[in-house]
Amino acid sequence: MLIGLEEHCRELGLELSPGAADGMREYWRMVLAANERMNLTRITSDEEATVKHFVDSLTVLLTGVFTPGVRVVDVGTGAGFPGVPLKLARPDLRLVLLDATLKRVRFLQEVVAHFGWADVEAVHGRAEELARRPGWAGAFDVVTARAVAQLDKLVTWCVPLLRPGGHLVAMKGPDVDAELKAAGKALKRLGARVAAVERLVLPKGAGRRSLVVVEREA
Ligand code: SAH
Repeated sequence: MLIGLEEHCRELGLELSPGAADGMREYWRMVLAANERMNLTRITSDEEATVKHFVDSLTVLLTGVFTPGVRVVDVGTGAGFPGVPLKLARPDLRLVLLDATLKRVRFLQEVVAHFGWADVEAVHGRAEELARRPGWAGAFDVVTARAVAQLDKLVTWCVPLLRPGGHLVAMKGPDVDAELKAAGKALKRLGARVAAVERLVLPKGAGRRSLVVVEREA
């Protein structure tokens, strides 16, 4: 189960505690079991999941925006990526797992109950709707999103969730120039800017990634 997870994390400069790695194995077993009755992931081999789900999810920690105890919302979390691996690696994070598909949220509620997390909530809804509500608007230090939407849409949905000075980490493939360009107007309108684009290579030839870090201006 998830062989080499710790080694591959270390290659990227991320150190996992034994407890975190065990938790990821347990969670992956839950994903695979639930995947039999609903569509959660098309990746089902342990080897592929190790890098493409788990190591990939944890790369966002390299951005430096996850300071101790930050309040995070993972928008369009699906089966829980990157949110659940992040919480396992960093128990101090306060987390909302948000998805527009109810059956996925129900699965995530089982995961939260299984780990007994008091500071994680799985919520059914759309980011752009919740972002207008009190308690959500401007309430988060960090928003994460992987494979959810193009950057222009993503910033429109997610920047309003951020406190001034907060960050969106959009997990993208190698080519982000066109998306960055297309998001320019939306960023300006929302009072946000691209603070960094971090490019990295996943282990085991799993491909190149870009982490687009957007900051809501203070
Ligand atoms: N982040 C996960 C899932 C990606 S699939 C991963 O990388 O594995 C995209 C998910 O985003 C779906 O589960 C879909 O229900 C959700 N989604 C799409 N638009 C959304 C929105 N506006 N608000 C919240 N969730 C959304």
